[in-house]
Amino acid sequence: MKVTVTPGRKLMARLLKGDDLLPALEKLCGELDIRLGEIRAIGAVSRARFGYYHQAQQKYEFLELSRPLEIVSLLGNISLKDGRPFVHGHIVLADEKGGAFGGHLAEGTVIFACEVAIQEYLSGEPLVRQFDEDSGLFLWSGGRS
Ligand code: ZN
Repeated sequence: MKVTVTPGRKLMARLLKGDDLLPALEKLCGELDIRLGEIRAIGAVSRARFGYYHQAQQKYEFLELSRPLEIVSLLGNISLKDGRPFVHGHIVLADEKGGAFGGHLAEGTVIFACEVAIQEYLSGEPLVRQFDEDSGLFLWSGGRS
């Protein structure tokens, strides 16, 4: 399925130290009523939690790193789930030796510093996440297939 979009607002923001990264991104999108868009961010975290999806078992395994790490890259998108802005983000983090880790961004990742760029998109029809039996994930539905 796909929808055609046109660019909306562009936003640059700094998130607050100590906040939980994923909920902070969703709160920002909610406050600005951004229902569709892309997110990019860099910065650092004091601890991280991210998931790996086991496709055969259709289950997330969450990894936790309780130490300071750089956000090398956070890429994500914004769409609607249960009528509210929902952020799907993937993050790559680096340690003091330059080693990298990454996965599906989860709650429990605590911000040390974070600079975010958001590109809002406008569309005639919303992108909505609904449960997909095939993958066990909440994927986009609606729009033209
Ligand atoms: Zn993911």
